Amino acid sequence: MSFEKKIYVTQPDLPPLDDFLPYLEKIWDSRILTNAGPFHGELEEAMCKYLGVKHLALFSNGTLALITALQALRVTGEVITTPYSFVATAHSLLWNGIKPVFVDIDPRTFNLDPGQIEAAITPQTTAIMPVHCYGQPCDVDAIQNIADIYNLKVIYDAAHAFGVKDKGGSIVRHGDLSVLSFHATKVFNTFEGGAIVCPDAKTKHRIDQLKNFGYVDEVTVAAPGINGKMSEFNAALGLLQLQRVDLALARRREIGALYVDLLNAVPGIRCVLPRDEQSLNYSYFPILVEEQYPLSRDALYEWLREQGVWVRRYFYPLISDFPMYRGLASARRDNLPVAAAIAIKVLCLPIYPNLEDDLVRDIVTLIASPA
Ligand SMILES: *Cc1c(COP(=O)(O)O)cnc(C)c1O
Repeated sequence: MSFEKKIYVTQPDLPPLDDFLPYLEKIWDSRILTNAGPFHGELEEAMCKYLGVKHLALFSNGTLALITALQALRVTGEVITTPYSFVATAHSLLWNGIKPVFVDIDPRTFNLDPGQIEAAITPQTTAIMPVHCYGQPCDVDAIQNIADIYNLKVIYDAAHAFGVKDKGGSIVRHGDLSVLSFHATKVFNTFEGGAIVCPDAKTKHRIDQLKNFGYVDEVTVAAPGINGKMSEFNAALGLLQLQRVDLALARRREIGALYVDLLNAVPGIRCVLPRDEQSLNYSYFPILVEEQYPLSRDALYEWLREQGVWVRRYFYPLISDFPMYRGLASARRDNLPVAAAIAIKVLCLPIYPNLEDDLVRDIVTLIASPA
């Protein structure tokens, strides 16, 4: 069995085009294209309501939101972060002239291991930037405890965590700031987009200035801000997407449960995420290819691609292995044994709301009996 058309790990979810046309007409009529227009305001309000938070600032993408979050809190010196993430996490530090300090991950959650953070703190440390990897919540209480003791800021890269909840509500309410990405590949997308969840109106106000070149009013510029504004096109699309996201999340959970059921019968394949967990978003479906499996991870990766299934190795290589990071003392392999071991075993399988059950079964059949 192989697939004619390539099956990617993700396929962006889109509303019917007809539903979008009235929004476009409004934009064409008003000629308001960007700079905190009406759809931008509506989406900020609707998204706050959806996420159960008070304040949020929309951005043109998640990376500029991360860079601006660090600026907003005046983070400098060293920041403790994870090597097991998309490269934008650490890049946002370099763009601010901050030194990333990598700390290993927890083998159960793949998130920053709170037990190892303290040993990495120096007099230069000013913040922690954890990632809710694959949408699995970090140990937010343990991280906040350490931050309180050492007077550190916490900025969560929540790019994977849209719609993820814990007992108290949305996971993005934690930390000093949480940053979301609405890139085409994410659970909730506006083609490109992002947001910073802010604790209070004052912080949001400052962030709104920073994303608009630092302008305070027509004649006052308070900081060397950037252009991180979300356009009316993306904001209008976001309003429509928000109406669909609960259905999309429900379907992702179904697919996740089906994968777990089917893959449980495949020796050597271990599912990272639990089955049908209502608090998770199944933004990715990572598996670990263990030693009992007949092929190596890379052989399985190649073979699935030959069959038309374009699986991805998120996250391999580790961020700490890229040339701009590997010279750091904290990037050494012996500092990051868990992340290094997982990076060579992990494979992300296709998961998106339109993925049919039969296709999931076919993909698992391929994995269960590789040629
Ligand atoms: C996607 C992603 C980003 C970057 O978001 P963009 O909107 O693409 O700039 C940052 N961090 C993580 C963990 C991501 O997955």
